Amino acid sequence: MTNLIEARRELALANRIVANEGVLDAFGHVSMRHPDNPNRYFLSRSRAPQLVSPEDFIEYDLDSRPVREPSVTQYSERVIHGEIYKARPDVMSVCHHHSPAFMPLLATGTDYVPVFHLGAVGGIKPPVWDQHDEFGDTNMLVVKPAEGASLARALGQASMVLMKRHGVTAVGVNVRDCVFRTIYSDRNAAYQAQALAIGGKLDFLSPGETEISGSIATKTTGLVRAWEYWEMRVTKAGGGLPAVKSAARAKSAVAKKSVAKTPARKTKGKRR
Ligand code: MN
Repeated sequence: MTNLIEARRELALANRIVANEGVLDAFGHVSMRHPDNPNRYFLSRSRAPQLVSPEDFIEYDLDSRPVREPSVTQYSERVIHGEIYKARPDVMSVCHHHSPAFMPLLATGTDYVPVFHLGAVGGIKPPVWDQHDEFGDTNMLVVKPAEGASLARALGQASMVLMKRHGVTAVGVNVRDCVFRTIYSDRNAAYQAQALAIGGKLDFLSPGETEISGSIATKTTGLVRAWEYWEMRVTKAGGGLPAVKSAARAKSAVAKKSVAKTPARKTKGKRR
């Protein structure tokens, strides 16, 4: 069993970090699949991600129905998360955002390409989804299950899907992986747009380089190093969260203490 208190803290911190790094603002969200139940996921109640706290999370089934009817407002775009968890059993975390760095690409229909090694976390020319193709004129929000399912189909096996005239949805095998992918694809989008703006010929990673350096998000110590850095920055900005005093750890500390105080023979007898 996972320590859910710790997991919720990490997810709240993920929301705050991605916002603190300028990818999310008043809108957008990071979710995680329930670590012990693949048919559930956690997403905050409707509020700006930089304000999200561990107690804000609502538990949903994969049809994005809350397990317990909440008394608080919910995000309207939660089907993005539910439908991706349904379609992709390997995905444990999802981030949906409208990053300013991506908007020039999304507004011009320019493919995303990795222009530096960390940008490889977004892949080469990730899929693009246009809500209008299937649904015609809408308010551009992904709110109907069919819209979420269509987006999930467009994502396919990729790690990121660009949503024309809207934003981006990135996925990860855990919360930190999803955060890493989100932040570094965002940096890459900014560099790419700047490179195009100065009029240079865009030079980008080969498919082989992309594959090798793309695994950096999940397979190296870079993830730990980046998380520690981002957590320091959000804490410094006043948005940190206190560390959770693990119940299991506290319990084991008490147990150790009582074992130390108990004579060996008595402990043995107790175990029998
Ligand atoms: Mn959106």
